[in-house]
Amino acid sequence: MIDAHAHVGDPKFDNDRGAALDRAAAAGLGAIVCVGQNTDTARRALAVKRGGHPKLKLAATAGLHPHEAANAAAELPALLELAKLPEIDAVGETGLDFYYNHSPRDAQRDAFRWHLDIAKKLHKPVVVHVRDAHPEALEDITKAGPDAICMIHCFTGGPAEARKYLDLGCYISFSGILTFPTAAAIREAARIVPEDRLLVETDCPFLSPEGFRGKRCEPAFIINTARVLAEVRGTAVEAVDACTSRNAMKLFFNDRPPL
Ligand SMILES: [Zn+2]
Repeated sequence: MIDAHAHVGDPKFDNDRGAALDRAAAAGLGAIVCVGQNTDTARRALAVKRGGHPKLKLAATAGLHPHEAANAAAELPALLELAKLPEIDAVGETGLDFYYNHSPRDAQRDAFRWHLDIAKKLHKPVVVHVRDAHPEALEDITKAGPDAICMIHCFTGGPAEARKYLDLGCYISFSGILTFPTAAAIREAARIVPEDRLLVETDCPFLSPEGFRGKRCEPAFIINTARVLAEVRGTAVEAVDACTSRNAMKLFFNDRPPL
């Protein structure tokens, strides 16, 4: 199993990061994508990757979360330098969050388009966060064209939105939210994503799945989300593991040519 989106560089893991990675390996994970959402956490994600683990493959990403898009002028130059490194496997997390609006919407869109543009130039996938902004995100991804390979992380739309992203070639990743009793529409979406576009993630330390609610989330908890994913798709956990792992390997763990 591969956790396709985990903030294991987050300070919330500073006291037990090594132990959390060990628990992930013991739970059967083979790889984790360590996500950075600003310069500081992108450097932390890279440090986790460089630190390595005897049983886990680790990838690292660099980008600016839409919540922080107002800081783009200060953050993007350093993030660009990070994103260019061959060790950085994807651009993001970036995207649009019109639910919280922690940054002005215009600033979010400018920053999102910037990420899509540099990802195309660097031939790296884009890690996309979308909340209450599906029409705008779809518009920007459409404009970016087929060379922008996007993963819609922690998908919270229904089947209609999922279809639109799939039509644009996006991958769709499901987090612990899939397991919440209220998430019927998300489970409907999880049913229709083809095997070759499906991913699973924890988004830890946030969003613990059912069974671990109230605890800090960590990669080992992914199994509960994978079980529900298998259930709604009428398949075995092993089948979900096989296809999501294949997709995550293809997206984040390819050896990239030097830039
Ligand atoms: Zn995230």
